[in-house]
Amino acid sequence: MKVGIDAGGTLIKVAYTDEGEVHFAKHPIADIGSVAEWINGLPVSEVCVTGGKSGVLASLLEQPVQEMVEFEATHLGVQVLLERMGLHHEAYLVTNVGTGTSIHCVQDNSQERLGGTGIGGGTLIGLSHLLTGITSFDEIVEHAKRGSRERIDLKVKHIYEGKEPPISGELTASNFGQDLFAISHELSKEELLATVIGLVGETVSTVSVHAARQCRSSTIVYIGSSFSDNALLKEVVTSYTILRGSTPLFPDNGEYSGAVGALSVL
Ligand code: ATP
Ligand code: MG
Repeated sequence: MKVGIDAGGTLIKVAYTDEGEVHFAKHPIADIGSVAEWINGLPVSEVCVTGGKSGVLASLLEQPVQEMVEFEATHLGVQVLLERMGLHHEAYLVTNVGTGTSIHCVQDNSQERLGGTGIGGGTLIGLSHLLTGITSFDEIVEHAKRGSRERIDLKVKHIYEGKEPPISGELTASNFGQDLFAISHELSKEELLATVIGLVGETVSTVSVHAARQCRSSTIVYIGSSFSDNALLKEVVTSYTILRGSTPLFPDNGEYSGAVGALSVL
C-alpha cells in the first residue's frame, strides 16, 4: 500500500492506494497517535508525509518515511487533481484555506508563495465558537447557511446614502460594521455565523485577487478543508472573486491536495 499524508495544524489528510484505487480519509490532529498506529500496522507500505505536523507523525512511525515540503506537495497534488478533472491550466494561483491561508503562484511548472493571511479556517471555527458557543464545524456550517448578513455587515451603499457610490454599492464596506450596539442582544446564531463565513470568505478572496496581479493568471484554485461541505463559504468566495475580476476554481477533493502530492512521489 502507498500512503501520502498531510498532517496540518487542525486535520490529518490521508490519500492511499489499495490495488490502484485512491482512497481518502480525514482525522482530527488529536488522533495523530491512532493514525501512526494504523500505518505501523500495515503489512507492507511506502509512506510520504508532509505538513506542519509531519515531523511529529514521523517520530511516531516504526519505519523511516519520506518527508516532503508542504508547498511542493500541495503544488503537485493540485496538478494531479486538476488533471483528473481534465483541466490543463498552464498558470494559476492556489489559495489554501487551511487553519491559516497561504497563497501561491504556479507557473512554468514551479510554485512561488506570494503571501497569505491569518484569516482562515481557524478563524472560522474560533470566532464562531466565541460568538455562539458552538464547537462543531459541521454544526457551524449548518446554522450559517440559514443566516443573513443583512443586519450585521455594512455595505458601500449604506454609507453612500442617496448618492451614487464610486464603486459597487454591493461590496462590503465593513464586515460586522453596522451599528450593532442596539441590536447585539437580538442577533441569532444563524446571522452571526453567516457573517463570520462572510468575513473569512471575503478576506481570503480579496487577498487572493490582489495577489493575482503578481501572477500570470487570474484563475484562483481554492483548496483546504475550510471548503469541505461548506457551500456557503464557496458561494461567498465565488461571488467575491468574480466581482473582483478573477476566476475561481474548486477542484474535487481539493482538501487532499497535500496528501495526493505526497502520494504522487511514491
Ligand atoms: P494548515 O494547513 O494551516 O496547517 P490544516 O492543513 O489542518 O492547517 P485544513 O485541514 O486544510 O487545514 O483546514 C482546516 C479547517 O477546516 C479548520 O480550521 C476548519 O475551519 C475546517 N474543518 C473542516 N472540517 C473540519 C472538522 N471535521 N473539524 C475541524 N475543522 C474542520
Ligand atoms: Mg494544510
